[in-house]
Amino acid sequence: MQKCIAFVGNIPNHEKQSWLAKIGPLLKNTRLIPFEELSATECLTIEVAIVANPDPKELAELPNLRWVQSVWAGVERLVAELPNAHFDIVRMIDPNLASTMAEAVLAWTLYLHRDMPKYRCQQDRKVWIQHGLVDLKDRKIGILGLGQLGKAAAEKLVLNGFNVGGWSRRSTELEGVKCFSGAEGVNQLLAETDILICLLPLTKDTQQLLNDKSLGLLPKGASIINFARGPIIDEEALLSHLESGHIEHAVLDVFKTEPLPTDSALWTAPNVTVLPHISAPTNIRTASKIVATNIARYFESGEIPEAVIRTRGY
Ligand code: NAP
Repeated sequence: MQKCIAFVGNIPNHEKQSWLAKIGPLLKNTRLIPFEELSATECLTIEVAIVANPDPKELAELPNLRWVQSVWAGVERLVAELPNAHFDIVRMIDPNLASTMAEAVLAWTLYLHRDMPKYRCQQDRKVWIQHGLVDLKDRKIGILGLGQLGKAAAEKLVLNGFNVGGWSRRSTELEGVKCFSGAEGVNQLLAETDILICLLPLTKDTQQLLNDKSLGLLPKGASIINFARGPIIDEEALLSHLESGHIEHAVLDVFKTEPLPTDSALWTAPNVTVLPHISAPTNIRTASKIVATNIARYFESGEIPEAVIRTRGY
């Protein structure tokens, strides 16, 4: 019998149509129906929904939902908006996304490593000063978060010759990476980092993890790249460390409020690079294949893909 699954998304219509057009044909014996087209009877049969920024009220109209597949890797908003949901939340885990993020991490790490912001500034003032070159093996990179994205980034940086350390909740081992965990671990990592890269999920434990005190643990002249979520960094504290010169430069792709408000001091801070959340966009082609595979496996075997653990928030 043909199964029905729902697409529940509060996104622009052209984006919704793209997802429907890509995923629909990949599903065998399964009809993908946009939420707004579901009949009352169909609502009762839905066990799986594909979600993109869904309205929780719409999900509540699917009483037999067992799990939702997010088309995005970050599910902070879903977890926050659905604290007591009766269904599992499955996020996008796509090796293609991890490799896109690793590429972004390498690109912006090199930007900082080779002093590009400094030379851009010098050119604006017609200044000719040569700065000393640091060997790759002496450039200490600290990665917060060694999950799907952090691991891929760490591997890429090691392959390119950087001296890489990383921090995760549970202790772990990664070839060529000095691994830290726990509260003491993060302090140790920060104290020996020249370029800090944030790839943590936003949870109650990571919110404002980078605050005045922890940013102060970085050696003077360190830089920061945040490709995770804005609220992990206390923006005021960051600005103050940038102003004092304790932190030399920040590359920020994510912010407390997005788009970044035009009156934010981050736009004009001379040592901040603002990016409009572009470090690792979802690739609709590869992501659709992953969604279709997860759904086919569920209907064949009943297996729900690894879901978010609500108590830890990711
Ligand atoms: P993931 O696979 O769930 O990995 C999360 C990592 O963070 C794990 O290593 C985890 O430790 C660690 N962690 C979580 N809470 C911690 C804590 N309290 N203390 C120490 N370590 C902690 O997530 P991911 O796929 O790598 O993605 C990370 C985040 O990137 C997403 O949540 C999303 O916010 C962001 N993202 C951004 C973009 C963008 O375009 N800017 C794109 C995609 C994703 P364990 O290994 O011990 O579990």
